[in-house]
Amino acid sequence: MALHDQLSALAAELASALTSASDERALEELRIAYLGRSGKITEIRRGIGKLPPDERPTAGKSINDAVAGLEAQFAAAQQGIELRKLDAELERTLDVTLWNVPAPLGSFHPIRKTIDDACTYFVRHGFAVLLGPEVDTTRHNFDALNIPPDHPAREGFDSFYLRPDLLLRPHTSPMQIRAMEAYPPPIAIVVPGKCYRRDAVDARHLYQFNQIEGLQVGEGIHFGHLRGMLTGMCRELFGPRQEVRFRPSFFPFTEPSAEIDTTCPGCGGGGESCRTCGGSGWIEIGGSGMVHPNVLRAVGYDPDVVSGWAFGCGIERLAMVRYDIGDIREFIWNEPSFLEQLA
Ligand SMILES: [Zn+2]
Repeated sequence: MALHDQLSALAAELASALTSASDERALEELRIAYLGRSGKITEIRRGIGKLPPDERPTAGKSINDAVAGLEAQFAAAQQGIELRKLDAELERTLDVTLWNVPAPLGSFHPIRKTIDDACTYFVRHGFAVLLGPEVDTTRHNFDALNIPPDHPAREGFDSFYLRPDLLLRPHTSPMQIRAMEAYPPPIAIVVPGKCYRRDAVDARHLYQFNQIEGLQVGEGIHFGHLRGMLTGMCRELFGPRQEVRFRPSFFPFTEPSAEIDTTCPGCGGGGESCRTCGGSGWIEIGGSGMVHPNVLRAVGYDPDVVSGWAFGCGIERLAMVRYDIGDIREFIWNEPSFLEQLA
């Protein structure tokens, strides 16, 4: 019989044998009989030696192709056996009369939810959301933000240094610099993310916390735009009647600078004996101002042509006000009972 016919006959013979191989052991026996060291293929291979030398390579290739075909047959048969086993197992164990036991559903952490809601508001107004490195250089963290090495403000930002010129970022502001270095004006971004400071942990401080930073730079951008965007963000997070007020302050990277207060959600601004705002009717939520000309110059923007505002808020602070939480550590204790209340 010609080699080609021999190989075809072998494939057909195997196909028929496999139909009655019902388990892995039967399959293994067939595998040895066909592909094993003294199997049928080896027997055929021995015949190559009797062929004229110029026909041997073609014959070798035909046999190799045939082996690949047989292996594919075995693989398919193996899969069939596994599927039948799985079906049998399901048949044995699946009880459709059992009561449904609902799996416990998780929910977003209040910090994540506050970040998402704030970002959603800004995205709706055309802002891009940027994330940045949590380890950044002193240049991005301080120098380009108008805080030179001898500036006393650096102490307030004292962080965890990895090298003299590299630290865990104490605020999200380095991304202002990175964004402006990467893109020409106009620019409108928000930057949520983790920050680190060497604060002792108590009811109001964590050494790792989250901030959201906002920045808009372009021609004709003024303080009114900042007020409008912040009022909108507060209404998104706290309720439709929120107002925003500014108190003069100082930050090296903005001029003028202002602390941001919003209507106390605890008393709606009524004050009196409200424990959330201590009776003032206002809650401080962050810092803001017009981007300092030196910061614009540091990234190659022309302060005579463009202007901009920036703000930064602590997410934990926003969430504490939003959910009326008295202790910032609640956010990291991971008590299911606490998280379930806010789900
Ligand atoms: Zn209040």
